[in-house]
Amino acid sequence: MAGYFLGVDLGGTKILTAVADEQGKILARKKLPTEANRGNDRVIENIIETIRSVLAEVGLKKENIVRMGVGSPGPLNTKEGIIYLAPNLGWENVPISRILEDRTGISVILENDANAAALGEKWFGAGQGIDNLIYITVSTGIGGGIIIDRKIYHGVNDGAGEVGHMVIDPDGPLCGCGNHGCFEALASGTAISRRGREAVERGEKTLLTDLCEGDLNKIDGGLIARAAQLGDQVALDIWSEAGYYLGLGFANLVNIFDPEMLILGGGVMKAGELIMEPMLASLKNYSFKSAFNSLKIRQAALGDDTGVKGAIAVAMGDRLYREG
Ligand SMILES: [Zn+2]
Repeated sequence: MAGYFLGVDLGGTKILTAVADEQGKILARKKLPTEANRGNDRVIENIIETIRSVLAEVGLKKENIVRMGVGSPGPLNTKEGIIYLAPNLGWENVPISRILEDRTGISVILENDANAAALGEKWFGAGQGIDNLIYITVSTGIGGGIIIDRKIYHGVNDGAGEVGHMVIDPDGPLCGCGNHGCFEALASGTAISRRGREAVERGEKTLLTDLCEGDLNKIDGGLIARAAQLGDQVALDIWSEAGYYLGLGFANLVNIFDPEMLILGGGVMKAGELIMEPMLASLKNYSFKSAFNSLKIRQAALGDDTGVKGAIAVAMGDRLYREG
């Protein structure tokens, strides 16, 4: 009997695949390193192996699987199932859906990883019962997924939801995309670490100089949070500046989409009050009162499972919408 779904969370360092029942409950999972440095074929073999392993574990065959959802870094084309460019995978123009369909005989739906995560949170996590929400993950970059009336808003070229490249300050720091002052160049974990390193390099009086033991590469969000907790003013200022920009970016989104809920995930949000307090002040300051007052702000609930549960939600697709 068909009625089961596969979710594949394809990341730069690991592949996590799970098989779920028709309620989306995970029955078996398998994790393997991506091994992107060993080339495309190796990554494909690793994906196939995770699928083989989870099906074997629960005694299912391809005939039992309705669909497979794949969450992958992009840019990509969801309709054609092609990953255009995934630097972390070393991939360019890989027709991943067709390749996996040919190998497994299971139909595949490809989705951008941040969009998949948004769907995971909507159907299985913090956003259950919410029809209009924005999911944002703040880690080395800033990614997002916009859900309108229970569905991902893709845009014409699958480019919607690239919230990390919303320009906040045209005179701001250079972003990986080539623009200046993008949201993620100002408020991501990478931006926070960079400010810590710059403060030490400029010889500012900060605990970070001692904490990093002479190795600037050790300065990351965790270390800057520790310095801030010890009362270090430079570190406190870095968090309040990042929180300010985070709130400003969120306010832009809230003013455009007027969502019911903002779901926040990613390593940077683990800094807790250090980032939440200045973020909330700035979000309140820049957003329309009515939108802010009705807005629910929640931490992402699925943790390390966000990607794979999102991929399962992608696979389940219309079945979820029908059930509401
Ligand atoms: Zn950018």
